[in-house]
Amino acid sequence: MKYQVPRGTQDILPGEVEKWQMLEERIRQFCHVYDYDEIRTPIFEHTNVFKRGNDASDMVNKEMYTFQLENSSTSLTLRPEMTAGVVRSFVEHKLFGEPDLPAKLYYVGPMCRHERPQKGRQRIFHQFGVEVIGVKNPLLDVECIALGWSFINSLGLKDLKVLINTLGDDESRNAYREALKEHFKDHIDSMCGDCKRRYEQNPLRILDCKVDRDCEAMKSVPRMKDYLNEESQAYFKQVLEGLDALGIPYEIDDTLVRGLDYYTHTVFEVVSENKEMGAQSTVFAGGRYDGLVEYFEGPQMSGIGWAMGIERLIIACEAEGITLGEKAELDAYVLTLSADVGLYALSAATMLRANGYRCECDYQNRSLKAQYRTVDRKKAKVVVIIGEDEAAQGSVTIKRISDKLQKTVALDDMITEIDRLFEAEEAHECNCEPGNCTCGKHHE
Ligand code: ATP
Ligand code: MG
Repeated sequence: MKYQVPRGTQDILPGEVEKWQMLEERIRQFCHVYDYDEIRTPIFEHTNVFKRGNDASDMVNKEMYTFQLENSSTSLTLRPEMTAGVVRSFVEHKLFGEPDLPAKLYYVGPMCRHERPQKGRQRIFHQFGVEVIGVKNPLLDVECIALGWSFINSLGLKDLKVLINTLGDDESRNAYREALKEHFKDHIDSMCGDCKRRYEQNPLRILDCKVDRDCEAMKSVPRMKDYLNEESQAYFKQVLEGLDALGIPYEIDDTLVRGLDYYTHTVFEVVSENKEMGAQSTVFAGGRYDGLVEYFEGPQMSGIGWAMGIERLIIACEAEGITLGEKAELDAYVLTLSADVGLYALSAATMLRANGYRCECDYQNRSLKAQYRTVDRKKAKVVVIIGEDEAAQGSVTIKRISDKLQKTVALDDMITEIDRLFEAEEAHECNCEPGNCTCGKHHE
């Protein structure tokens, strides 16, 4: 085929898109009750928003779509994640000065990373995420995890667990980094090229390596928990107590460092244990960041956030047999018996639509049989039949599919009649004799 979507990207077509709509609607409901507001930032930013200083993360070093237009010295990057853009925006619009901090923000949208495509890993994928910026309190770490956790639980997902760790404050992390440097000093020559770079830039990243994960040096690696100062220990303890209080089960994973360089204190991943997820088992992940607002030249303020891959969420739901949204059925189909009544039929359809009925009509002058096949396929509940007689008299014939009940009424009464049919349908009422049900809906 000559024209195809680029590798690692996909079209989301009707039939599939309803799942996305359902999830997005649910996302908005959850964020609404947790009092998070939506933020939309540009899909590309100046490269330095993402590429900060000596960042050692794979995402920044290997996965960014960075471009520069001809005759321009400006380097731009398609966003690989949202946190940086959100914090940039928080500072640019001085949201740090708002009387009601923290700023509680959420986003839903596409991200771009140049990765090797595989199941659950694409080059354009979508994230739902939250950022809570401006107040540092372990209760907020808990609240933000609770939002994501209760959202995925509301979908009925079961094979999930929260992995959590702390990276401590700067002092603790620096002490740990030194310990890691010392530990890997004699092993780094035999480790992968990325780890050699990480060793110089940020040895913490080595713990996140997928290549060297099982090597000898990794097994005897020093543990973060032995380098935490008192303050960092106390902070982590409060986060865990909060999770306990809200009944959110977790496992402490003291090798968890997460892929991004800006994390401090709490880091977490929520993973699905369903086998179908393969290596791409993390549904959402995030952590606290203490230095990012300052990096963007705002005040010293802390934030916490996470991001959830929507494609992965859908895979996880499907692996557990959970049905998300499905294509909507038709309420009414306007059926035409002659080409001459097309405009009359369109007027009737327009009235139905104006009253909130999902409605379709025929634009191809198809046979009655062909039109009835569409009625079947689209599962219309009612057909509105229009022939030359109806058009001449200003009437329509309404037929309810479930019991073939049929009635001709004036066009002006069509909505009242259809309202009545739908109300009866909802109430499981019908015109059948008790004990002699022909509609199939009667609960005898
Ligand atoms: P991984 O270790 O799987 O590469 P990551 O650490 O790069 O994940 P984050 O940057 O924390 O992931 O992104 C948060 C979430 O976004 C992930 O948990 C995942 O659900 C989703 N995600 C990340 N990259 C991709 C991708 N290329 N395709 C689909 N979903 C992705
Ligand atoms: Mg990644």
